Amino acid sequence: AAPVELLAVQDIEVIYDGAILAVAGVSLRVGQGGIVALLGANGAGKSTTLKAISGLVRADRAQVSRGAIRFLGVDTAGVAPNELARRGIVHVLEGRHVFAHLSIEENLRSGGFLRNPGRRELERDLERIYAWFPRLKTKRKTQAGLTSGGEQQMLAIGRALMTRPKLVLLDEPSMGLAPILVEEIFEIVAQLNAREGVSFLVAEQNLNVALRHAGYAYILENGRVVGEGEAHEDIQHFYLGGR
Ligand code: ATP
Repeated sequence: AAPVELLAVQDIEVIYDGAILAVAGVSLRVGQGGIVALLGANGAGKSTTLKAISGLVRADRAQVSRGAIRFLGVDTAGVAPNELARRGIVHVLEGRHVFAHLSIEENLRSGGFLRNPGRRELERDLERIYAWFPRLKTKRKTQAGLTSGGEQQMLAIGRALMTRPKLVLLDEPSMGLAPILVEEIFEIVAQLNAREGVSFLVAEQNLNVALRHAGYAYILENGRVVGEGEAHEDIQHFYLGGR
């Protein structure tokens, strides 16, 4: 039998405050072990699409008013975000949202709470995150709010990995970061994907870096998918006027 698909979003519509149609019929797929990019300008609907998948739309008083989202073959309608996290979906919000007054290590530990692991297991997970992000280990005692934007992005990803996700929804990791740091972060994402099989759905305005690391990409405009394809050639072609 064919393996169960990781994520299938089918023609969803998302409405804010019962009026603003932010996502107007988006379909996309993420296969097991994929890195998929969700590209588009400010306001295209990328963040809203990710929030629909993680269940966080409801925290914004929005709702998925049409369509369906299936994770590992199961419809996620009405499932709470913490339960979705338990099933393997974790959302790294745009702007990172680390706990500024807690240390790097405390932030990472907070990511483990959901699974309620034993002490040894938690320590092992921490070491695993530190192996991926050595900078975080060096600064483990530093207050998160005092670290650089790049370090906070790494922390936000590291904290998400503490939930042992199958799928990471990563919202604009490049935002406000120097190109070299963006490269470093995407490189780690690619390695995590290759070595641990974690899948990623990455919303980005930065096409270049996203396309270099993604296997497949969707382009959003005004809440709709206006193009999609194997990342490199197809999408370059699209932006160069091929549509
Ligand atoms: P950005 O990169 O700026 O987040 P985006 O592509 O992720 O852009 P969304 O944030 O999903 O786009 O926004 C899509 C549409 O939904 C926009 O028209 C936006 O104004 C609207 N929208 C987003 N959040 C809210 C909200 N909390 N309340 C009302 N409308 C919203």
